[in-house]
Amino acid sequence: MQAFINTFDVEDDEDDLTDPAALTAWLRDRNLLDGTAQADGADLDRARALREALRDLVAVHNRLPANVDAATDEVNRATARARLAPRIDAAGSSQLVPQTHGVDAALGKIIAAVHRAINDGTWVRLKACERGHCRWTFYDASRNRSGRWCSMAVCGSREKSQRAYRRGRIPGR
Ligand SMILES: [Zn+2]
Repeated sequence: MQAFINTFDVEDDEDDLTDPAALTAWLRDRNLLDGTAQADGADLDRARALREALRDLVAVHNRLPANVDAATDEVNRATARARLAPRIDAAGSSQLVPQTHGVDAALGKIIAAVHRAINDGTWVRLKACERGHCRWTFYDASRNRSGRWCSMAVCGSREKSQRAYRRGRIPGR
């Protein structure tokens, strides 16, 4: 979920989900996409819309400006498309499972993770970095939930090279 939001680097204007094939590969790498399903252009638009809605919703956790109503509507529309339904299993656990296939189902699994995070109290710890245009989504593990930046080292020093390193991309290699 955090990785999904961070497929778009707001500050550097770099989108990992450049085309339907990139979306297909991203979802398949994470075992979210079933069978031989392939994303199309409409799927890509919906995935990006969901991603930006989730970014708005985590930005609220550190009181950054966001259009909460529009974001909530977007997530709930994606939930309806995925036809998420509560299921219990023999082990006595409960989860939301998509009752459809393809990219809509894959995005539904991401939304199911949001619901799990809301229920276990970790959702409010996902935040958008406050520094400038960073907005990188990070998990605030501080005791009193006071975190404001994705990384003190990165957004403290404002080193682009460290930012690239954090994303696992080292320029020039
Ligand atoms: Zn940051």
